[in-house]
Amino acid sequence: MNLAIFDIDGTLIQYHRKRNDGAYVKALSEVFGIAVEDSWNGYVSSTDSGILREIFQKRLGRNLLDSDISRFKQSMALWLEKEYGEEPFNASPGALEAWGGLLNHPEWKMAVGTGNFEFAGRFKLASAGFELGNIPLGTADDAEAREKVLDASHHRALEVHGLECFEKIVYVGDWIWDVKAARALGWDFIGIADDKTAPTLRKAGAETILPDFKNFISVLETLPVMP
Ligand SMILES: [Mg+2]
Repeated sequence: MNLAIFDIDGTLIQYHRKRNDGAYVKALSEVFGIAVEDSWNGYVSSTDSGILREIFQKRLGRNLLDSDISRFKQSMALWLEKEYGEEPFNASPGALEAWGGLLNHPEWKMAVGTGNFEFAGRFKLASAGFELGNIPLGTADDAEAREKVLDASHHRALEVHGLECFEKIVYVGDWIWDVKAARALGWDFIGIADDKTAPTLRKAGAETILPDFKNFISVLETLPVMP
């Protein structure tokens, strides 16, 4: 059995007109009075939890407490509804069909590995029409480093399916940190990128890059076996 783990933002779902982390930015401002851009390339981490810790250290000069995280999440949940409730996220072209096609695939299982906090990841996927059922998620609640989040997702998938290992694991993502995390774990990688971002992914080491999910399952089925 093989496992495909999917990133959410820019991968399963498209970037929103209001960008994807508007609720995160609004909650930071509302709860802690910190203004940031909805852009995360200047951070060491690529997860909600890791970025929050970095922002705390840089901007407030103190450590993040559990009580900070829960206040932040409460505010963010309200902002998700306010910002995107009436203007939902859209699935990437072909993503809902690929998702449906993999649900009962004889050789592939699915999981989600995202930098979102779990509630935010679930909100975005539901908003775009994905039914999660018992598909396992690894999220920013599991760890601050993306490769640890992905590994949590992988282990949850093993548990759900009662397996000891997967023969092949592929991470499907849209950004440099996704390529790096897949490489750190020794997994395959499929990039989802348009003409603008494909060169960046290629430079980061991605070999298989698709513009969307329209041929995704056949590409997945013919991936070469890793040496
Ligand atoms: Mg992404």
